Amino acid sequence: MSKRLALVAGFALPMLVQPVSAQTAPAPMVAKMKALMASPAFAKAKTSLDSDWDRIVKDLVTLTEIPAPPFKEATRAKAYAAMLTEAGLTDVEIDAEGNASGIRKGTGGGAPLLLVQAHLDTVFPEGTDTHVKHEGDKLRAPGIGDDTTGLAVLLALVRALDRAGFKTKQDIVFAGNVGEEGPGDLRGTRYFFQKSKYKDRIKQFISIEPSRESVTTGGVGSKRYKVIFHGPGGHSYGNFGIVNPAYAMANAITAFSKMQVPATPKTTFNVGIVEGGTSVNSVPHDVAMTIDMRSESKAELDKEDAYLKSILQPAVDMENKARSTSRGSITYTLQQIGERPVGQTPEDSNIVRVATAAQNVVGVTPRYGAGSSDSNIPMSLGIPAVTLGSGFPTGGNHALDEWVQVEKAGTLRELQVDLATIITLANGQ
Ligand SMILES: [Zn+2]
Repeated sequence: MSKRLALVAGFALPMLVQPVSAQTAPAPMVAKMKALMASPAFAKAKTSLDSDWDRIVKDLVTLTEIPAPPFKEATRAKAYAAMLTEAGLTDVEIDAEGNASGIRKGTGGGAPLLLVQAHLDTVFPEGTDTHVKHEGDKLRAPGIGDDTTGLAVLLALVRALDRAGFKTKQDIVFAGNVGEEGPGDLRGTRYFFQKSKYKDRIKQFISIEPSRESVTTGGVGSKRYKVIFHGPGGHSYGNFGIVNPAYAMANAITAFSKMQVPATPKTTFNVGIVEGGTSVNSVPHDVAMTIDMRSESKAELDKEDAYLKSILQPAVDMENKARSTSRGSITYTLQQIGERPVGQTPEDSNIVRVATAAQNVVGVTPRYGAGSSDSNIPMSLGIPAVTLGSGFPTGGNHALDEWVQVEKAGTLRELQVDLATIITLANGQ
């Protein structure tokens, strides 16, 4: 999940942005949800979650200590598939993209299904120490919060459904998916909707990410590029006066930095990496910059894209005019390295109202917000999707000192909300 930090209730809620006014579901829906959450079956589910607490924490530690860098999630996927089987799911498999999934069959014999996901991958490269350190009530390790908490609680939700004997009309597919973080570019979720055996049946979607008391209803879109500027290169002294791709890139960065974007819908841009050259006394052959642009609005993101494309050739031309092209001219190559579609699940849609009603029953008025996560894919396709919380307080997401607080009461309350939401949606209500 991509970050915009909001400090609420003393811990970081990484995916929340633009919290809006308190959210309340229509009264009849809240009443219905209240009946479900007060039922004897739901009481059994609560007991299951409660008695599972140590196991949730144990699974969290076990999974965190299996590294899962982008494109290298296979070992964790294999372990997770075994856990999905142990939790009682059937048709457990690792698909061609690398997602681990299993199904909990409904009574309806078929078509529409609910997909519930947490992502396997972390942002950390191979070789990162993921050994979990215990510090009081905190567990610390890279990737432990985002999104290993989601993986661990998803298993507990499956067990609670079974122990409480809940039957749902629709099938529910539970999955640990690959490729959520940056370079993965949502490949696991794209696969589910474009190529998987479930692709035409997924009519509702939930992803579980580290947060609490929130319902993510918007998907912030992004476009990412690497722009490489090429030149003839030469000796810094002997060939002084020839065109230099670093100056062309500087022209481009200066122009890029002057892009005008609205505050609302929130639209941003960044040059994140600059690289290139070979030595201090060489005019470089190649330099490059890596760019990230994001917006809650497709139109604004398209404008950013057009702006970027409009400034590159003038930046190059300026350098080709400023110095000698006797050894060759500056050119550039534009490589797209990522794209996340913009999406939105309307706040008055059933899926948002159901999740809100469940929060209301436990006394919470959830915050709505936009994030950048697996939900972007179904949202962009018009398939109802929300991102819900794994409940654990977390901090330092995407940093080496990432932590999770082992706080039982609030986390279990969030899991009850997740469970009630899943049951209601899978019953087509
Ligand atoms: Zn995440």
